[in-house]
Amino acid sequence: MNWAEKQYQGDVQRLAWHESHGTLESHGSDASPEKTDHATQQPLRRTPNANFSLCSGGSSLMSREMIERIAPGATIGVLGGGQLGRMFGIAARRLGYRVHTYEASPDSPAGQISDREFTGSYTDEAAIAEFVDSVDVITFEFENIPAAVLDWIATKKPIHPRSEVLHICQNREREKAFLRANGYPTASFRVVGNEDELKVALEEVGYPAILKTADFGYDGKGQQKIRTAADADYTPYLGSKAVLEGWVDFRCEISVVAARGADGTVSTFPAAENVHSRHILDYSVIPARVPDRIQREASEVARSIATDLDVVGLIAVEFFVTTGGELLVNELAPRPHNSGHYTFDACITSQFEQQLRAVCGHPFGSPELLVPTVMVNLLGDLWNDGRPPDWLPILAQPRTKLHLYGKLEGRVGRKMGHYCVLGPTLAEAFEVAMNIKSKIHRASLV
Ligand code: AMP
Repeated sequence: MNWAEKQYQGDVQRLAWHESHGTLESHGSDASPEKTDHATQQPLRRTPNANFSLCSGGSSLMSREMIERIAPGATIGVLGGGQLGRMFGIAARRLGYRVHTYEASPDSPAGQISDREFTGSYTDEAAIAEFVDSVDVITFEFENIPAAVLDWIATKKPIHPRSEVLHICQNREREKAFLRANGYPTASFRVVGNEDELKVALEEVGYPAILKTADFGYDGKGQQKIRTAADADYTPYLGSKAVLEGWVDFRCEISVVAARGADGTVSTFPAAENVHSRHILDYSVIPARVPDRIQREASEVARSIATDLDVVGLIAVEFFVTTGGELLVNELAPRPHNSGHYTFDACITSQFEQQLRAVCGHPFGSPELLVPTVMVNLLGDLWNDGRPPDWLPILAQPRTKLHLYGKLEGRVGRKMGHYCVLGPTLAEAFEVAMNIKSKIHRASLV
């Protein structure tokens, strides 16, 4: 099944859930007044659009005394069984919580470290109901969950972040509408639904441009660079919407993970500088090698987005730093983020523990970076004929931490693990990280 078919199926599933659970009311984000799309290269200063109604229920701010604290010993449910859930689970278990996961296939990275692993699809109502019954509070670690499932779960147990946040962030059209309506700067863009609209949009946005599927796009999947009119082909996107973005000449890409509690407290991690290869994160350098002004601005934007979205949990904000020194928001993710993996080894409190603290109503720990760090992803490309690489080049470095996610099959582009090189200076960490990278890469070729 291609991604366009999956999107169609996802929408059908969502509708079916609403129908069978009587929750067919319209979502606030769908009610965005801006139905026509204009290319926009917005100014850095925010110019909020007062008409944009984000959520039907408004802000759910609570004072610290009102927040229900979920104490260690309770059971946290995690929707999704990937590496983000695995690291969240490790953080939760260290604090004495029990962890139950819900994932389509057994022996998932998160399931391996959980007290209980529930296996089922997001259309399997009985399995979801059993999972929900077994936990005290629920969070998620990936975005392709029908928001209607979260709506239904919310009627049974607390779930953070709320479904509205997921609904916005899992679709590029809604995400861009939210960003534009709230005055956040983005690349110029148009939403298109067919070949003719694409042609018009290309004339307005210009070349080169990048066409991204509205749904189910991650790690460059469902993306196509359009250099000239001859490249414009809507066939792979037929039946679904897509966002056409103007090409950004960026100096670098950075990201900030923000954690927000139910009382509105926000804690942000230091910005990571991210280098991608074939649209997948290759490595991150922390702190990002950008001026302090840009670090501060990125942190402020992430804080503000977390507040505007009324997130309880995490929100990762990815930015382009343009050659002119401006920040443009590229993408949002309401969960732990690959570029925040460094926090597990290098910060007083990790992104995973911060998510746990937000979800359980505890105050945040310090996000302080203890030592400059370089994090490198280990993709399945390194597996040779199904054999994992020799980990010695990583394990032989005393300032390096290896993380493997317990995935057995090393497929091309699949995130299998990562390593972090911790200081003592950024220059030294960088050198060690790149040396290891080339050694492992060379070894995988023989
Ligand atoms: P995304 O899935 O939107 O995060 O895109 C994956 C990667 O593609 C980004 O991290 C960039 O390296 C590149 N990319 C995405 N959109 C653009 C753009 N408008 N201009 C230039 N590069 C882009």
